[in-house]
Amino acid sequence: MYFIKLLKINDTLFTMKDKNFKPANNIQDLQYFGEFGGVNPSISDSSTYTFLSAKTMFDTFEGNADGCYLYSRHTSPSNLYLGEALAAMEGTETANVSGTGMGAIVPALMQLCKAGDHIVSSRTIYGGTYAYLKNFAPGFNLATTFVDITKLDVVEAAITPNTKVIYCESVSNPLLEVADIPGLAALAKKHNLKLLVDNTFSPLSISPAQLGADVVMHSLTKFINGSSDTMGGVICGTQEFIDDLRNVNDGASMLMGSSMDSLRAASILKNMRTLHIRMKQHSANALYLAEKFEADGLKTVYPGLASHPSHQLFKSMMHPEYGYGGMLTIDVGSIDKANELMELMQERNLGYLAVSLGFYKTLFSAPGSSTSSEIPEEEQAEMGLTDGLIRFSIGLDNDIKRTYEIMNTCMKEVGVL
Ligand SMILES: *Cc1c(COP(=O)(O)O)cnc(C)c1O
Repeated sequence: MYFIKLLKINDTLFTMKDKNFKPANNIQDLQYFGEFGGVNPSISDSSTYTFLSAKTMFDTFEGNADGCYLYSRHTSPSNLYLGEALAAMEGTETANVSGTGMGAIVPALMQLCKAGDHIVSSRTIYGGTYAYLKNFAPGFNLATTFVDITKLDVVEAAITPNTKVIYCESVSNPLLEVADIPGLAALAKKHNLKLLVDNTFSPLSISPAQLGADVVMHSLTKFINGSSDTMGGVICGTQEFIDDLRNVNDGASMLMGSSMDSLRAASILKNMRTLHIRMKQHSANALYLAEKFEADGLKTVYPGLASHPSHQLFKSMMHPEYGYGGMLTIDVGSIDKANELMELMQERNLGYLAVSLGFYKTLFSAPGSSTSSEIPEEEQAEMGLTDGLIRFSIGLDNDIKRTYEIMNTCMKEVGVL
């Protein structure tokens, strides 16, 4: 064979809304071999690909030569393998990987929305996405109304004749609000809009496409890769939408240029195979700590707690074996207390004072002054993002009881308890 075709044995495992949809099984059942029978696919160490005939090269430009590769900004074998694994996880027809999470979110929005269009977005979203919608997109005459995504009537009231997209995160950063994906999908359908969901905080636990979302995105930088050693993103959707994004003439992913390197795609694919084990451990550890913190009287937000306003909703949407995710927040009253506590926890080796999430170690930061600092202070107050809020990405600690005991000591030392 002149080129190596993607080898997939089990590619029709699921149908939409399949009750037996098992995201981790779908990843596991994919089989990709190297050309010498390697149990891992070979890494495509090339930015460009040769053709035997000029005609095939022309057809490939036109998008009519399935299985042929052209140039790695368009796609590469390694990127296709990773994309197929992510599509299998989300239950979409296919997927396109990108160099970063923002490199997925921005092209997906720009493919669907043109000058004069309007987006209805959750107001509690990742700081970078918020800054893009609030500050950058208006320069291209693309307007956004930010709403409380947990109130479907408020979402619907914000829809205008120019609206093209409803945008949200399944579990929002940093407040851990939970989107009613079936409810939003019904609204999107009624008004002929696309529902775009950033599922970065809840991989495996929630499958937005199964619940009616049109497009699902991730920052692979977080849980999916899980090693805090690389960046990456993905857009999961229909074959038609992904083909549009990759179109050499007018595709936003192709033309905005945030492509992933093949070496990185290969390493993320390998890390992804342990995602189910990691998510179970992140979730079990986070639930343990959330219950302890709440019992100690700390203001704790975690979707797995019965006190979370959307606990039942999360439960109704989740694949239970992966739990409620690794993210939780506590409010310790002031930024000074938050900083003091985080510095002490780092000193005691409980985790790192760092942004990002999904690492084996616990990571903590105060979003008001870091990852959400793009959001003006008045708006932070309005959405309930307080000064003393600490966001935790709970690690894979083997002995979470010991972790809790040391954290408890730290909290007493700084006077939070
Ligand atoms: C980190 C993050 C992003 C952005 O991803 P990058 O890989 O940093 O570009 C988007 N959404 C959420 C929820 C995130 O946590």
